[in-house]
Amino acid sequence: MALQLRPNCEYCDKDLPPNSLEARICSYECTFCADCVETKIFNVCPNCGGGFAPRPIRPSQEWRPGISVVGHPPSDKRVHLKYPREEVAAHSARIKAVPPEGR
Ligand SMILES: [Zn+2]
Ligand SMILES: [Zn+2]
Repeated sequence: MALQLRPNCEYCDKDLPPNSLEARICSYECTFCADCVETKIFNVCPNCGGGFAPRPIRPSQEWRPGISVVGHPPSDKRVHLKYPREEVAAHSARIKAVPPEGR
């Protein structure tokens, strides 16, 4: 199974295409932009409390037959924050001091 490659930042709704260098994902593929991860949620996923890593870029060219965004297109389902921003801020404040490997 391939990564979903969700199309936007859950926090600010910025577009994050499959070749974006700004996309960040948690282990559940919750997807945010680098700016929101750094300045809004402080490397704490609002949904699971885990940390983030850069989302790998899916090749646009078929370097191998059937293996590219053509064969495995990105998700077109935009995802939006499920929790109020104030609650997310409190969640990040509670967890950000704990390194991801200790959460
Ligand atoms: Zn964002
Ligand atoms: Zn998450």
